[in-house]
Amino acid sequence: MALEEELYTYDDEFKGSLSTVDAEGKRIWVYPKKPKGKFHNARAYVSIVLLTILFSGPFIKINGNPFLLLNIFEGKFIILGVPFWPQDFFLFALAFVLFFVVVIIFTVAFGRLWCGWACPQTLFMEMVFRKIEYWIEGDANHQRKLNAAPWTTEKIIKKGSKQLIFLIFSILISHTAMAYLIGLEQVKEIVQQPPSSNPSGFIGLVVFTGIFYWVFAYFREQACTVVCPYGRLQGVLVVKDTIAVMYDWVRGEPRGKIKKNAVDAAKGDCIDCKLCVHVCPTGIDIRNGTQLECVNCTACIDACDDVMLKINKPTGLIRMDSHNGIVNKTKKIFTPRVIAYSVVMLVLTTFLSFLLMTREEIEVTFLKKPGTSYQISNDAVISNIFDVKIYNKTFAPVPFDLKIGNIEGAEIVSITDGEAIVQDDSMYSGMYLLKVPKSKLTGDVTVLEIEVYTEGKVLEVLKINFMGPMVY
Ligand code: SF4
Ligand code: SF4
Repeated sequence: MALEEELYTYDDEFKGSLSTVDAEGKRIWVYPKKPKGKFHNARAYVSIVLLTILFSGPFIKINGNPFLLLNIFEGKFIILGVPFWPQDFFLFALAFVLFFVVVIIFTVAFGRLWCGWACPQTLFMEMVFRKIEYWIEGDANHQRKLNAAPWTTEKIIKKGSKQLIFLIFSILISHTAMAYLIGLEQVKEIVQQPPSSNPSGFIGLVVFTGIFYWVFAYFREQACTVVCPYGRLQGVLVVKDTIAVMYDWVRGEPRGKIKKNAVDAAKGDCIDCKLCVHVCPTGIDIRNGTQLECVNCTACIDACDDVMLKINKPTGLIRMDSHNGIVNKTKKIFTPRVIAYSVVMLVLTTFLSFLLMTREEIEVTFLKKPGTSYQISNDAVISNIFDVKIYNKTFAPVPFDLKIGNIEGAEIVSITDGEAIVQDDSMYSGMYLLKVPKSKLTGDVTVLEIEVYTEGKVLEVLKINFMGPMVY
């Protein structure tokens, strides 16, 4: 039997069960051993940078606008200080497809590296909440013992203080998330005013805090192994050239404990110490091969390297490598699949850049008022009511004027109070009465050219359908 086949029949139990669920279907709580080593240190530095960016994001302004605002409630989005509106939906759709292609390329080339190194869920779980837990309750074995111990004063203090700090961090995260959704100023207002002044905002903050607290205090790795759809994508995206955290089964098998004063040449380098399993935050055994639960956190690499150094073997029994790298000793990032996806990415990026560069800063929509028909005055003038929306995507107020350009004697009159001005980064919404002499109608539908002016200059000319009686 080939060594490769041997590995997969070595212990097939894992294929039919989840490492975090027992035979009765109950959750097995994961107590990962405290990770340490050069990969962990690198992750800690990356996390500090990413968390700093994440928490400072709402405070960063570009031209007085937030760096990032994703206000799905009001349909207002600001990315890198540039405002976008629902009218830019196609840009979002295209950007989303582009993002998806980038994710695919990255996953085909590097597996689930994003999850272990950059995903906010893992950053908060492993680099914030887990660290607090180690600090208060100690390493895995101490945590197990503490959980099994009766409720003494020490246990109450430890558990209570841990949950309190978890709650404080959850509040901090929920306020940051809300600042990205509704803006920092709005969050400040909610915090400074009594809950009754803005009940929906207050409830939003409480619900967010509750969700974050529940995820990080209780749900934990299940978010990555059970809920996250990205993990499931691995099955279709990971190929034999994908570089991910891998156990070198060629070198490691057949595994076995080291016996004192015994040299067994038939044995592989894996001494079956299971330290790679003990440090795993998702509770899996990487020696069973690539699994969807593996978030590529590299904790098992550090653990195994440490063991290899102690037994005087080369490090890298678990390493970042590909299936082909392990079997054939060939490492290839630019496979035909990666190249093909990269071409698609390039085309999409070019198209999106073109659309962004030619994007109109003032956008006008004219929609006939729903439920209205035309009106006739003195059998000579026909009128229609239109809803007008003007989106100002610039950082300066835009005064405007509307005229009907192609029909002499036609009039356009505002029936909404207020000035004809769109404030910076805002939307104007008003109702207009359009009047056309009956004699100028060309049929039951007449095309009108609406000219939008600002400070004497034509901004845009829109063609709209004006309804009238049948003309014979
Ligand atoms: S840490 Fe290394 S040596 Fe120990 S069980 Fe895991 S792979 Fe084998
Ligand atoms: S198998 Fe290794 S890399 Fe994957 S999640 Fe577990 S510890 Fe992290």
